[in-house]
Amino acid sequence: MANSGKKYGLFIDNAWVEASEHFTSLNPATEEPIGEFASATLEEVDLAVKAARRAFDEGDWPRMSAFERGRVLRRAAELMKERTEDFAGAETLDTGKPIFESRNVDVPGAADELEYYGCLVVDLLGESIPVGDTALDYTVREPVGVVGAIIPWNFPLVLACRKLAPALAAGNTAIIKPASWAPLTTLMLGDLFLEAGLPPGVVNIVSGSGRVTGEALLRHPQVDKLSFTGSTEIGRDVITASCDRICACSLELGGKSPAVVLEDADLEQTADGILFGAFLNQGECCCAATRVLVDRKLHEPLRDLLVEKTRQIVVGDGMNEETRMGPMISAEHRQTVLDYIRVGVEECGQPLVGGGIPEGLERGYYLEPTIFDEVAPDTRLYREEVFGPVLALTPFDGEAELIEAANDTPYGLAASIWTGDGARGQRIAGLLRAGTVWINVHNFVFAQAPYGGYKQSGVGRELGREGLLAYTEVKNVITWIAAEGFCWY
Ligand code: NAP
Repeated sequence: MANSGKKYGLFIDNAWVEASEHFTSLNPATEEPIGEFASATLEEVDLAVKAARRAFDEGDWPRMSAFERGRVLRRAAELMKERTEDFAGAETLDTGKPIFESRNVDVPGAADELEYYGCLVVDLLGESIPVGDTALDYTVREPVGVVGAIIPWNFPLVLACRKLAPALAAGNTAIIKPASWAPLTTLMLGDLFLEAGLPPGVVNIVSGSGRVTGEALLRHPQVDKLSFTGSTEIGRDVITASCDRICACSLELGGKSPAVVLEDADLEQTADGILFGAFLNQGECCCAATRVLVDRKLHEPLRDLLVEKTRQIVVGDGMNEETRMGPMISAEHRQTVLDYIRVGVEECGQPLVGGGIPEGLERGYYLEPTIFDEVAPDTRLYREEVFGPVLALTPFDGEAELIEAANDTPYGLAASIWTGDGARGQRIAGLLRAGTVWINVHNFVFAQAPYGGYKQSGVGRELGREGLLAYTEVKNVITWIAAEGFCWY
């Protein structure tokens, strides 16, 4: 990557550009700086947007065949797989997540997204619409144009590829802004795409603050579509900006996902699955199973098993192979989660396990995995997104109460159902208002299946076929085919 020492530039028009302003990103495990990153100004964002605009209006990329574009994306996927250790190491350094997770979830997940859209795009078909004998009517899917993408810090590489892969596959060009707490692997994509053969201006990467760099992207008149992943709060600003300019907009936002445990669930499998659902990525996961709603008949044994297994989770520096929970992303975010724990103590009493900073891990932004019991539905802990390793357990009486409780939230990103009866699980899946419903598993996402939220968890879908269509416009082409020309007057 073009940088001097550990100073990272902006990736514009297939070149590394020295920026005028910088910020420092820290390793959350050690609190040490990992580099100086460019903080793109209004003018620098404008340069990036203009490069993307030129590449779209005059460049080869939107005019190449789907086969050619697909090959570049599949080549990028191959390069990423070859560099798994580099990408995984950088992701762990920047976000704190365990290397075990970066290597087995993040890098393969991102590579799958590149490969999947590199394959799917050749099947991006239009429709032929019967309109009678006089005209031939068909549709074609065309790229939207210049995409402005903004992503959060919890799964930077996966979320960058989740936007770039379908956008590029469809023939768009893009500018992407990573989160300030974790910009590293998104920047690494610059060299990866360059080597894979992406033409200049097709992908531009601008790090910088949401307030300056992000806002500049939202407001730029030459951006045709905004694609945002982050909090519901900032999502509101993004959709407002898209309304002001009347441009396309997709939103992937926050969640407070329930895990619904029925009385016939297998205890051991449920406890293991719920802990993965609640604590994967330190609980910094949009679809985390943070509300565990359990049938009162299973409450006590499930509670005891969850506590016992939580005590066994290895918290530590993500670079250690044994670590299964790393530090929070930053001191500021850990404080937010600690504040929620304090509120939880006021609302529900002491947690069953955790609640503080682990002994011996005072340096770095570590936090103990935490479980609160008997969390009442009117508490903040039950209703608000904490975005940390804090699980709220609440017993209910029977299926009807459980379903009502699961839907009692402004969010609708995901939910899981835990039952020994497959047909019952399918029936309840139809009653939950969430974009993804898992049965006897939580936190599984596949490149080829759609992902996104109901209610305040988002607008639109990523991944799967829907994820590709989201980066297209539909053009309807009507051809007069009758022997006689059409005459009205
Ligand atoms: P965030 O504060 O909303 O920030 C997300 C991105 O928006 C960052 O790049 C941020 O830049 C930028 N930003 C902030 N203010 C902005 C503004 N005024 N204009 C334009 N951009 C702005 O969210 P986060 O704390 O990074 O991530 C956590 C949230 O993301 C959670 O709510 C989580 O549920 C959600 N999430 C959702 C999904 C999903 O697929 N539904 C996936 C992952 C995460 P800075 O970093 O510089 O502030």
